[in-house]
Amino acid sequence: MTNDILLVDDDPGAIQLMGRILADVGRLRFATNGEAALRLARAEAPDLILLDAEMPGMNGFDMCRALKADPLLVDIPVIFVTSHSAPEFELAGFELGAADFIAKPVSPPLVIARVRTQLRLKNLTDELRRVSAMDALTGVANRRRFDESLEQEWTRARRSATPLTLLMIDVDHFKLFNDTYGHPAGDDCLHRVAQAMAGTTKRPTDLVARYGGEEFALLLPLTARDGASQVAARVIDAVAALNIAHSASPSASHVTVSIGIACYDDASPCWISPSSRLRSADARMAQDAAILVRAADQALYAAKAGGRARANLSELAAETPARPVQPQRRA
Ligand code: GH3
Ligand code: MG
Ligand code: MG
Ligand code: MG
Repeated sequence: MTNDILLVDDDPGAIQLMGRILADVGRLRFATNGEAALRLARAEAPDLILLDAEMPGMNGFDMCRALKADPLLVDIPVIFVTSHSAPEFELAGFELGAADFIAKPVSPPLVIARVRTQLRLKNLTDELRRVSAMDALTGVANRRRFDESLEQEWTRARRSATPLTLLMIDVDHFKLFNDTYGHPAGDDCLHRVAQAMAGTTKRPTDLVARYGGEEFALLLPLTARDGASQVAARVIDAVAALNIAHSASPSASHVTVSIGIACYDDASPCWISPSSRLRSADARMAQDAAILVRAADQALYAAKAGGRARANLSELAAETPARPVQPQRRA
């Protein structure tokens, strides 16, 4: 894996020197002021930033503050390069979130050692973050990641009046599959089904997750019911195309899935159009993402009852204002 290092210094000579020192350590990009450096970092996040503390205009501290305020850039380690050696100066940098300091004039072996240390930590953190969001058996996102994304996407959809679709996908007669072929074969089947589902999504914002057991969830931002039905059909076809034998299944000779669809779009009773949002914002925004899961579950239940290997859509419940509890009638 190549590490991407961004060198920021208003002195081109200093950048050249660093460039020579770090030539073999990673892919290098350069900027001679804070604004340009932020633009480069936002275009493609580097793995490490070496930042001159003293620059005209936006100085290193200002730039570090801007990086730490940006959720997409906050985890990039920053090493300050500075001729100030006062402890208060370094302390102020650490308080801003700096990872380390390098003193000017620089010592090449020390620069390489410090940079390598930060890159090692960054790669470890990235790997930890990746693994902690992934389901080990199937290789798709895990439940924790799904819950986080659902919350985020639901809020975004409600705020920006954009559609959001949730597919709940359940493997048909999977208990019988395990009973017939054994749990290791069952595990292998789940892995293949998950990967087939992942292959049907096209947008980088689509999320395939293992919801639990033999149930999966597909979260599709910016997707209304027409698109949702198409994706559901693709998932059903992709799993059928794996052609995994299931001799004990009462409904098919191979492994199939059933799908419950729930869509938040402009045909939903609880859709918030930009105009209605202005009128009655807060109460309506309070509706939580669980209504999407409940509707998809209901639809899934109907797909099972309807014969399996099919998709069904359930409408989101209309939002009803909280009703005061009725006093109990005495017998
Ligand atoms: P239906 O068509 O109604 O969904 O029937 P089903 O048998 O798939 O549903 P049920 O909920 O009765 O059984 C789910 C089965 O999924 C039971 C459980 O043993 C199996 N299962 C859940 N997680 C795993 C897993 O990680 N590996 C394996 N091999 N099996 C699993
Ligand atoms: Mg400078
Ligand atoms: Mg199930
Ligand atoms: Mg099942």
